Amino acid sequence: MRKIDKEIIKALTSIVGRNNITTHPADLELHSYDASNNPHLPEVVVHPGSTEEVSEIMKLAWEKEFPVTPRGAGAGFTGGSVPVEGGLVLTTRRLNKIREIAVDDLTVIVEPGVITSALQAEVAKKGLFYPPDPASKEFSTIGGNVAESAGGPRAFKYGVTPQYILGLEVVLPDGTIMNTGSRTIKNVVGYNLSALIAGSEGTLAIITAIILRLIPKPEMTRTIQLLFPDVSNAAKTVSDLVAAKVIPTTIEIMDDICLGLIREHVDDSLPEDSNAALIVECDGDPYMVGKDIDAVRRVAEGNDCIKVRIAKNADEAEELWTLRRSLSPTIAKLWDTKVNEDIVVPRSKIPAAFEYINKLAAKWRLNIPTFGHAGDGNLHVNIMYNRAETGAGDRAHEAAKELFEFVVSVGGSISGEHGIGLSKAPFLEIELGSEQIELLKRIKHAFDPKGILNPGKIFK
Ligand SMILES: Cc1cc2nc3c(=O)[nH]c(=O)nc-3n(C[C@H](O)[C@H](O)[C@H](O)COP(=O)(O)OP(=O)(O)OC[C@H]3O[C@@H](n4cnc5c(N)ncnc54)[C@H](O)[C@@H]3O)c2cc1C
Repeated sequence: MRKIDKEIIKALTSIVGRNNITTHPADLELHSYDASNNPHLPEVVVHPGSTEEVSEIMKLAWEKEFPVTPRGAGAGFTGGSVPVEGGLVLTTRRLNKIREIAVDDLTVIVEPGVITSALQAEVAKKGLFYPPDPASKEFSTIGGNVAESAGGPRAFKYGVTPQYILGLEVVLPDGTIMNTGSRTIKNVVGYNLSALIAGSEGTLAIITAIILRLIPKPEMTRTIQLLFPDVSNAAKTVSDLVAAKVIPTTIEIMDDICLGLIREHVDDSLPEDSNAALIVECDGDPYMVGKDIDAVRRVAEGNDCIKVRIAKNADEAEELWTLRRSLSPTIAKLWDTKVNEDIVVPRSKIPAAFEYINKLAAKWRLNIPTFGHAGDGNLHVNIMYNRAETGAGDRAHEAAKELFEFVVSVGGSISGEHGIGLSKAPFLEIELGSEQIELLKRIKHAFDPKGILNPGKIFK
């Protein structure tokens, strides 16, 4: 593909203005990586301020055939926004307006560069609720959430980002501006291009506006923390709750390694015999929330729960969440490298998944603290090692491959929310098989026959 030369820089400058384009080495460095720790430098970074500017940039890229990588906050875990073939990084930081909140329709039209929590705060002012809540919501963009089909702890009750997308405004690789979907809940006209583009990790089109569905804000939320002697008791509590038709907003799980780390590094008052924890949140009408919290407690006690703490107010709830929030920083202090997997298994297979992960850790001599969104069967399997340790990287790769084979064999998926990007591309075939991959490649070709948009992603 063509390198960015002076002629291209001049044309780009005339589109976005001198203040919104940079080739300064520090800026290139800043836009070379995401949370996956696999950096590649772009040749130029541009910050368009309108859909029309995005369209002009893509027309130029189409004509001159240079690569373009869309970027939100760069908080992805799989290298989606990393410009693996150099070229141009297109940020959405100036596409940051909430165009319209339609209270009568329960919808919002938002530009991709709006930070997720800022969108939630704006709609909350009107008594409305946008539920998807990736843990990165304080810095990730709504465009990045849409392009990655992001989820979060509330997915158990409320679902994930794609379930809120009604329509998109997009710019295709040749610069064509197009609207997909509509402002309505129902729309069955043609193929569902909004859904296709939404999870495409910036490989099919650049999203310049999103129509999202909203719901009324729940009246109250309550949080309960449960400690268990073994992860199997915690996992059984999750499936028993589902069987009892109790649908909390959130069910987060932590295994024995996680609790051991917390006990040693964060809170030594954690009971010695607690080897697994659940944090459960229920929201809605106060009467129903009370009933659900009682049911959670009963089901947990039936599974040998050794300690129950119910938060009386928001401060106490925050305290209960500390257990979960302290995990990632603690893990990061102990090992310098994390292979961060986000497998999903059917909920009934959660106990088997923990058992399998323990076996993998022993077989490959790795530390694998595991926590996650148990309500969705979505487990964050953190394969940890230190780079200086000979052969640890190869062992981690083999462990990940075996984990993915296991997950697919029990009817699960290799990624529940982080996407494929660069990191998981080598494993795609385990889940999809070659025929499905060929079909996906044909779809990519139909959108982007010159292969200029986010090249090198998803497919090896
Ligand atoms: C601490 C931490 C916690 C996290 N927790 C969660 C979690 O709970 N759930 C979860 O799902 N993820 C989580 N993530 C991963 C990450 O935050 C999400 O994937 C998020 O959606 C990325 O948003 P972003 O704005 O950073 O996008 P980026 O990383 O910048 O981009 C992600 C992908 O989207 C594409 N893209 C971005 N904007 C556009 C656009 N306008 N048009 C087309 N393509 C675009 C990029 O090319 C790239 O492929 C977490 C990450 C961190 C660091």
